Amino acid sequence: MRYDDTPPPPGPAPPAGTGRPWYARRSTLAVAAATLAPLCLAGWVLTEVATGAGPRRMPQSAPPAPHPAHAPGRAADAKANPAAGPAGTAGAPLTGRTVVIDPGHNPGNFRHTAEIGRKVDIGTTHKECDTTGTTTGTGYQEAEFTLDVSRRLRTALEARGVTVVLTHEAGRPWGPCIDERARIGNEAGADAVVSVHADGASEGSRGFHVILPAAVKGGAADTAGIVGPSRLLGEAIAGNFARTTGSTPANYLGGGTGLVVRDDLGGLNLSLRPKVFVECGNMRDTKDAALLADARWRQKAAQGIADGIVGFLGG
Ligand code: ZN
Repeated sequence: MRYDDTPPPPGPAPPAGTGRPWYARRSTLAVAAATLAPLCLAGWVLTEVATGAGPRRMPQSAPPAPHPAHAPGRAADAKANPAAGPAGTAGAPLTGRTVVIDPGHNPGNFRHTAEIGRKVDIGTTHKECDTTGTTTGTGYQEAEFTLDVSRRLRTALEARGVTVVLTHEAGRPWGPCIDERARIGNEAGADAVVSVHADGASEGSRGFHVILPAAVKGGAADTAGIVGPSRLLGEAIAGNFARTTGSTPANYLGGGTGLVVRDDLGGLNLSLRPKVFVECGNMRDTKDAALLADARWRQKAAQGIADGIVGFLGG
Protein backbone atom coordinates (compact mmCIF):
# COMPACT_ATOMS: atom_id res chain seq x y z
CA MET A 1 0.00 0.00 0.00
CA ARG A 2 1.20 3.47 -0.69
CA TYR A 3 2.30 5.46 2.29
CA ASP A 4 -0.58 7.91 2.12
CA ASP A 5 -3.74 8.64 0.23
CA THR A 6 -2.14 11.13 -2.10
CA PRO A 7 -2.89 10.06 -5.66
CA PRO A 8 0.24 9.27 -7.58
CA PRO A 9 1.14 11.38 -10.57
CA PRO A 10 -1.18 10.56 -13.46
CA GLY A 11 -0.18 9.22 -16.81
CA PRO A 12 2.88 7.40 -18.07
CA ALA A 13 5.81 7.57 -15.74
CA PRO A 14 8.88 7.97 -17.94
CA PRO A 15 10.21 11.51 -17.95
CA ALA A 16 11.83 13.03 -20.99
CA GLY A 17 15.38 12.10 -21.73
CA THR A 18 15.31 8.53 -20.56
CA GLY A 19 14.37 6.99 -23.88
CA ARG A 20 11.63 4.52 -24.48
CA PRO A 21 10.14 2.66 -21.50
CA TRP A 22 11.14 -0.88 -20.65
CA TYR A 23 8.28 -2.50 -22.50
CA ALA A 24 9.08 -0.61 -25.71
CA ARG A 25 12.80 -1.37 -25.83
CA ARG A 26 12.80 -4.55 -27.83
CA SER A 27 15.35 -6.24 -29.94
CA THR A 28 14.49 -6.99 -33.56
CA LEU A 29 13.73 -10.57 -32.58
CA ALA A 30 11.51 -9.46 -29.77
CA VAL A 31 9.63 -7.09 -32.05
CA ALA A 32 9.04 -9.95 -34.46
CA ALA A 33 7.85 -12.15 -31.64
CA ALA A 34 5.57 -9.44 -30.37
CA THR A 35 4.14 -8.99 -33.85
CA LEU A 36 3.39 -12.66 -34.08
CA ALA A 37 1.80 -12.80 -30.67
CA PRO A 38 0.59 -9.34 -29.77
CA LEU A 39 -1.64 -10.53 -26.97
CA CYS A 40 0.99 -12.58 -25.21
CA LEU A 41 2.63 -10.08 -22.90
CA ALA A 42 4.49 -12.71 -20.92
CA GLY A 43 5.74 -14.21 -24.14
CA TRP A 44 7.28 -11.09 -25.52
CA VAL A 45 8.66 -10.03 -22.21
CA LEU A 46 10.33 -13.41 -22.01
CA THR A 47 11.70 -13.00 -25.50
CA GLU A 48 12.87 -9.49 -24.79
CA VAL A 49 14.57 -10.39 -21.57
CA ALA A 50 16.11 -13.58 -22.91
CA THR A 51 17.55 -11.81 -25.92
CA GLY A 52 19.01 -9.18 -23.65
CA ALA A 53 19.07 -5.42 -23.74
CA GLY A 54 21.61 -3.63 -21.58
CA PRO A 55 21.21 -3.99 -17.84
CA ARG A 56 17.96 -5.93 -18.19
CA ARG A 57 19.71 -8.95 -19.62
CA MET A 58 18.86 -12.12 -17.82
CA PRO A 59 21.70 -13.82 -15.99
CA GLN A 60 23.37 -16.06 -18.53
CA SER A 61 24.34 -18.50 -15.84
CA ALA A 62 20.84 -18.80 -14.44
CA PRO A 63 20.08 -22.33 -13.29
CA PRO A 64 17.58 -24.42 -15.25
CA ALA A 65 14.13 -25.14 -13.86
CA PRO A 66 14.71 -25.32 -10.11
CA HIS A 67 10.98 -24.82 -9.52
CA PRO A 68 7.98 -25.57 -11.72
CA ALA A 69 6.87 -21.98 -11.37
CA HIS A 70 9.93 -20.78 -13.22
CA ALA A 71 9.91 -23.34 -15.95
CA PRO A 72 9.33 -21.04 -18.96
CA GLY A 73 12.09 -18.57 -18.13
CA ARG A 74 14.50 -21.15 -16.89
CA ALA A 75 13.96 -23.35 -19.89
CA ALA A 76 14.88 -20.43 -22.12
CA ASP A 77 17.97 -19.74 -20.06
CA ALA A 78 19.06 -23.34 -20.16
CA LYS A 79 18.58 -23.42 -23.91
CA ALA A 80 20.63 -20.27 -24.30
CA ASN A 81 23.29 -21.52 -21.95
CA PRO A 82 23.43 -25.32 -21.73
CA ALA A 83 26.33 -25.07 -19.30
CA ALA A 84 24.19 -23.41 -16.68
CA GLY A 85 24.48 -25.25 -13.40
CA PRO A 86 21.84 -26.34 -10.93
CA ALA A 87 20.20 -23.95 -8.51
CA GLY A 88 22.55 -22.29 -6.09
CA THR A 89 25.71 -23.25 -7.92
CA ALA A 90 25.76 -20.61 -10.59
CA GLY A 91 29.27 -19.60 -9.64
CA ALA A 92 28.13 -16.96 -7.19
CA PRO A 93 29.06 -14.19 -9.64
CA LEU A 94 27.55 -11.53 -7.42
CA THR A 95 29.66 -12.19 -4.36
CA GLY A 96 30.49 -8.91 -2.74
CA ARG A 97 27.34 -7.18 -3.92
CA THR A 98 24.80 -6.05 -1.35
CA VAL A 99 21.04 -5.78 -1.75
CA VAL A 100 18.75 -4.36 0.90
CA ILE A 101 15.20 -5.70 0.88
CA ASP A 102 12.58 -3.64 2.64
CA PRO A 103 9.41 -5.55 3.57
CA GLY A 104 6.71 -2.88 3.52
CA HIS A 105 4.98 -2.11 6.84
CA ASN A 106 5.09 -4.49 9.83
CA PRO A 107 2.43 -6.96 11.02
CA GLY A 108 2.62 -5.29 14.45
CA ASN A 109 1.89 -1.79 13.17
CA PHE A 110 -1.85 -2.28 13.77
CA ARG A 111 -1.11 -2.50 17.50
CA HIS A 112 1.19 0.51 17.56
CA THR A 113 -0.72 3.23 15.80
CA ALA A 114 0.60 5.97 18.09
CA GLU A 115 4.21 5.05 17.47
CA ILE A 116 3.88 4.76 13.72
CA GLY A 117 1.77 7.89 13.52
CA ARG A 118 4.45 10.28 14.64
CA LYS A 119 5.93 12.41 11.92
CA VAL A 120 9.45 12.01 10.60
CA ASP A 121 11.47 14.32 8.38
CA ILE A 122 11.78 13.07 4.81
CA GLY A 123 13.68 16.11 3.59
CA THR A 124 10.99 17.61 1.42
CA THR A 125 8.29 17.42 4.10
CA HIS A 126 7.22 15.40 7.13
CA LYS A 127 5.36 12.11 6.88
CA GLU A 128 4.04 9.44 9.23
CA CYS A 129 6.77 7.14 10.55
CA ASP A 130 5.07 4.14 8.98
CA THR A 131 1.61 2.88 8.05
CA THR A 132 -0.32 -0.32 8.66
CA GLY A 133 -0.62 -1.34 5.02
CA THR A 134 -3.69 -2.95 3.55
CA THR A 135 -5.31 -6.40 3.71
CA THR A 136 -7.19 -8.68 1.37
CA GLY A 137 -10.93 -9.13 1.79
CA THR A 138 -10.22 -12.35 3.65
CA GLY A 139 -7.83 -10.69 6.09
CA TYR A 140 -4.43 -11.51 4.65
CA GLN A 141 -2.23 -8.63 5.73
CA GLU A 142 -0.02 -6.78 3.31
CA ALA A 143 2.67 -6.81 6.02
CA GLU A 144 2.61 -10.62 6.08
CA PHE A 145 2.75 -10.72 2.30
CA THR A 146 5.73 -8.39 2.14
CA LEU A 147 7.67 -10.41 4.70
CA ASP A 148 7.00 -13.66 2.89
CA VAL A 149 8.02 -12.33 -0.52
CA SER A 150 11.07 -10.66 1.00
CA ARG A 151 12.26 -13.90 2.55
CA ARG A 152 11.80 -15.75 -0.73
CA LEU A 153 13.63 -12.95 -2.50
CA ARG A 154 16.49 -13.18 -0.02
CA THR A 155 16.83 -16.90 -0.66
CA ALA A 156 16.94 -16.38 -4.42
CA LEU A 157 19.55 -13.63 -4.19
CA GLU A 158 21.74 -15.44 -1.69
CA ALA A 159 21.83 -18.36 -4.11
CA ARG A 160 23.61 -15.98 -6.49
CA GLY A 161 26.13 -14.92 -3.87
CA VAL A 162 24.49 -11.61 -3.02
CA THR A 163 24.75 -10.30 0.54
CA VAL A 164 21.18 -9.53 1.58
CA VAL A 165 19.99 -7.26 4.37
CA LEU A 166 16.33 -7.04 5.38
CA THR A 167 15.26 -3.77 7.00
CA HIS A 168 13.20 -5.79 9.46
CA GLU A 169 11.98 -9.32 9.84
CA ALA A 170 10.45 -10.46 13.10
CA GLY A 171 12.54 -8.80 15.74
CA ARG A 172 10.66 -5.60 16.30
CA PRO A 173 7.06 -4.86 17.30
CA TRP A 174 6.50 -2.07 14.75
CA GLY A 175 8.25 -0.09 12.05
CA PRO A 176 10.96 0.74 11.16
CA CYS A 177 10.07 4.32 10.31
CA ILE A 178 10.43 5.23 6.67
CA ASP A 179 13.52 7.37 7.34
CA GLU A 180 15.22 4.45 9.07
CA ARG A 181 14.28 2.13 6.20
CA ALA A 182 16.11 4.47 3.84
CA ARG A 183 19.04 4.83 6.21
CA ILE A 184 19.54 1.07 6.39
CA GLY A 185 20.02 0.94 2.64
CA ASN A 186 22.37 3.91 2.69
CA GLU A 187 24.50 2.63 5.54
CA ALA A 188 24.75 -0.80 3.95
CA GLY A 189 26.14 0.83 0.82
CA ALA A 190 23.56 -1.23 -1.05
CA ASP A 191 23.99 -1.81 -4.76
CA ALA A 192 20.20 -1.97 -4.98
CA VAL A 193 17.30 -1.52 -2.59
CA VAL A 194 13.82 -2.90 -3.16
CA SER A 195 10.81 -2.14 -0.99
CA VAL A 196 8.14 -4.83 -1.33
CA HIS A 197 4.45 -3.89 -1.19
CA ALA A 198 0.98 -4.72 -2.43
CA ASP A 199 -1.50 -1.98 -3.17
CA GLY A 200 -4.88 -1.14 -1.67
CA ALA A 201 -6.83 0.17 -4.65
CA SER A 202 -10.42 -0.54 -5.68
CA GLU A 203 -12.01 -3.77 -6.96
CA GLY A 204 -11.27 -4.12 -10.66
CA SER A 205 -7.94 -2.34 -10.37
CA ARG A 206 -5.42 -5.01 -11.21
CA GLY A 207 -1.79 -5.64 -12.00
CA PHE A 208 1.62 -4.64 -10.69
CA HIS A 209 3.61 -1.46 -10.79
CA VAL A 210 7.08 -0.33 -9.82
CA ILE A 211 7.53 3.06 -8.18
CA LEU A 212 10.62 5.03 -9.18
CA PRO A 213 12.09 7.99 -7.31
CA ALA A 214 11.49 11.45 -8.75
CA ALA A 215 14.22 14.04 -8.75
CA VAL A 216 13.80 15.78 -5.40
CA LYS A 217 16.04 18.02 -3.34
CA GLY A 218 15.30 19.37 0.12
CA GLY A 219 16.81 18.84 3.54
CA ALA A 220 18.33 15.39 3.67
CA ALA A 221 16.61 14.42 0.43
CA ASP A 222 18.62 14.56 -2.77
CA THR A 223 17.84 11.90 -5.34
CA ALA A 224 19.87 13.34 -8.20
CA GLY A 225 22.34 10.47 -8.02
CA ILE A 226 19.79 7.67 -7.96
CA VAL A 227 17.07 8.65 -10.42
CA GLY A 228 18.82 7.14 -13.42
CA PRO A 229 20.02 3.84 -11.94
CA SER A 230 16.75 3.41 -10.06
CA ARG A 231 14.87 3.56 -13.36
CA LEU A 232 17.10 0.84 -14.79
CA LEU A 233 16.52 -1.24 -11.69
CA GLY A 234 12.77 -0.70 -11.91
CA GLU A 235 12.60 -1.55 -15.60
CA ALA A 236 14.56 -4.73 -15.03
CA ILE A 237 12.24 -5.77 -12.23
CA ALA A 238 9.08 -4.90 -14.16
CA GLY A 239 10.08 -6.97 -17.17
CA ASN A 240 11.09 -9.98 -15.16
CA PHE A 241 8.11 -9.72 -12.81
CA ALA A 242 5.74 -9.77 -15.78
CA ARG A 243 7.55 -12.79 -17.18
CA THR A 244 7.62 -14.92 -14.04
CA THR A 245 4.14 -14.11 -12.75
CA GLY A 246 2.27 -13.60 -16.01
CA SER A 247 0.80 -10.45 -14.45
CA THR A 248 0.25 -7.36 -16.54
CA PRO A 249 1.16 -3.78 -15.65
CA ALA A 250 -1.42 -2.03 -13.49
CA ASN A 251 -4.57 -1.02 -15.31
CA TYR A 252 -5.32 1.90 -12.97
CA LEU A 253 -2.16 4.02 -12.99
CA GLY A 254 1.11 4.41 -14.84
CA GLY A 255 -0.58 4.50 -18.21
CA GLY A 256 -0.12 0.76 -18.66
CA THR A 257 3.67 0.97 -18.34
CA GLY A 258 3.93 -0.65 -14.92
CA LEU A 259 6.13 2.28 -13.90
CA VAL A 260 5.19 5.25 -11.76
CA VAL A 261 7.42 8.11 -10.60
CA ARG A 262 6.71 9.61 -7.17
CA ASP A 263 8.21 12.42 -5.15
CA ASP A 264 6.28 11.91 -1.91
CA LEU A 265 7.73 8.70 -0.49
CA GLY A 266 10.27 9.11 2.28
CA GLY A 267 11.78 5.73 1.59
CA LEU A 268 12.72 6.92 -1.89
CA ASN A 269 13.42 10.58 -1.18
CA LEU A 270 15.98 9.77 1.51
CA SER A 271 17.68 6.97 -0.38
CA LEU A 272 21.20 7.52 -1.67
CA ARG A 273 21.28 4.09 -3.29
CA PRO A 274 19.32 2.86 -6.35
CA LYS A 275 15.89 2.03 -5.00
CA VAL A 276 12.38 1.18 -6.12
CA PHE A 277 9.11 0.07 -4.59
CA VAL A 278 7.36 -2.93 -6.11
CA GLU A 279 3.57 -2.98 -5.75
CA CYS A 280 3.01 -6.63 -6.60
CA GLY A 281 -0.75 -6.43 -7.09
CA ASN A 282 -3.92 -5.01 -5.59
CA MET A 283 -5.01 -6.69 -2.36
CA ARG A 284 -8.47 -5.11 -2.61
CA ASP A 285 -9.23 -6.77 -5.94
CA THR A 286 -10.64 -10.27 -5.54
CA LYS A 287 -8.67 -11.80 -8.41
CA ASP A 288 -5.39 -10.14 -7.53
CA ALA A 289 -5.91 -11.03 -3.87
CA ALA A 290 -6.24 -14.71 -4.75
CA LEU A 291 -2.85 -14.54 -6.45
CA LEU A 292 -1.20 -12.62 -3.64
CA ALA A 293 -2.44 -15.17 -1.10
CA ASP A 294 -1.06 -18.09 -3.13
CA ALA A 295 2.40 -19.18 -1.96
CA ARG A 296 3.27 -20.53 -5.41
CA TRP A 297 2.49 -17.15 -6.96
CA ARG A 298 4.53 -15.38 -4.31
CA GLN A 299 7.50 -17.56 -5.26
CA LYS A 300 7.08 -16.45 -8.88
CA ALA A 301 6.89 -12.84 -7.73
CA ALA A 302 10.04 -13.16 -5.65
CA GLN A 303 11.87 -14.86 -8.51
CA GLY A 304 10.89 -12.12 -10.92
CA ILE A 305 12.12 -9.43 -8.57
CA ALA A 306 15.32 -11.38 -7.96
CA ASP A 307 15.94 -11.86 -11.69
CA GLY A 308 15.44 -8.14 -12.22
CA ILE A 309 17.91 -7.26 -9.49
CA VAL A 310 20.45 -9.78 -10.79
CA GLY A 311 20.07 -8.36 -14.29
CA PHE A 312 20.54 -4.84 -12.97
CA LEU A 313 23.67 -5.91 -11.12
CA GLY A 314 25.03 -7.49 -14.27
CA GLY A 315 24.95 -11.04 -12.95
ZN1 ZN B 1 2.42 -0.90 1.24
